[in-house]
Amino acid sequence: MSVEDIIYDYPLYRPPSEANSVILQVTLGCSFNHCSFCSMYRTKIYQERSLDEIKYEIDLISKHQPLTEKVFLADGDALNVKTERLIELIDYVTFKFKNLKRISCYAMPRNLLQKKASELDMLRDRGLNMLYVGIESGNDVVLQKVTKGASSSMIIESCKKAIDHGFKLSCMVILGLGGKTYSDVHISDTAKVVSQISPHYLAALNLYLDGTVHSEFMSKFKESFSWLTDLDILDELERLVMLFNPAREVIFRANHASNVYSIGGTLPADKLKLQRLIHELKRHPEMLRPKIVRRF
Ligand code: SF4
Repeated sequence: MSVEDIIYDYPLYRPPSEANSVILQVTLGCSFNHCSFCSMYRTKIYQERSLDEIKYEIDLISKHQPLTEKVFLADGDALNVKTERLIELIDYVTFKFKNLKRISCYAMPRNLLQKKASELDMLRDRGLNMLYVGIESGNDVVLQKVTKGASSSMIIESCKKAIDHGFKLSCMVILGLGGKTYSDVHISDTAKVVSQISPHYLAALNLYLDGTVHSEFMSKFKESFSWLTDLDILDELERLVMLFNPAREVIFRANHASNVYSIGGTLPADKLKLQRLIHELKRHPEMLRPKIVRRF
């Protein structure tokens, strides 16, 4: 039996920065699964996998990759799992992988708000140290239209709670999510929200809808939704970078497969450098990644 014999329940997603991590599927699917732009787990019914199954996989992987330093707990929101169960699992992971530096997972604002402060402290102390939260937008109208299941105030409260309890926080927002109608408020409110949170990492993705969710997404925008052009997206990106005033240094990236170009830096220090690059891209749209190769 080898690591290759582990049968993942596909589709399987992880943040780009977890490319070299061992992925353990603690849950299958997303406990919410209603965001209208997201097709990731539409084919799955949310469930928690048995601890025995997961421990068996940990045994197997730890034999073949004993030097593992990073473990990502999949699928969509492993933080939804009851704290005692998650701690049992994390303890087993840290027992089996002696070189471990990071355990991370996706988390929704409501997962974080549901956990007591003492539970978050326990999870962090036992080794869960990084959380990925999809903010998507800071504008409440846009959040409602995309059925995010969280308001901007919930997002701020939950993300601050994570940081206050010692987690490294990586947040995602989506350029173009409000279409042309909401573009201005989407960016100004998103910049306000991410400034208030000041996560350690911030990623700006581009809206991409696959066929599974396209009509559902459009139906929530009663007025017609107008897609942003690549130049509009660059405008949004520039405004976000310029309006973002974090309270700490934030590693900023717009280098996802969905983005028009791979951009990154440390904010606020690199504001002007990023602005110059965005201006250059506006002047030379031929430098942009072709639409056909962009994916969410
Ligand atoms: S965006 Fe996140 S919370 Fe929303 S449905 Fe997709 S996985 Fe679930």
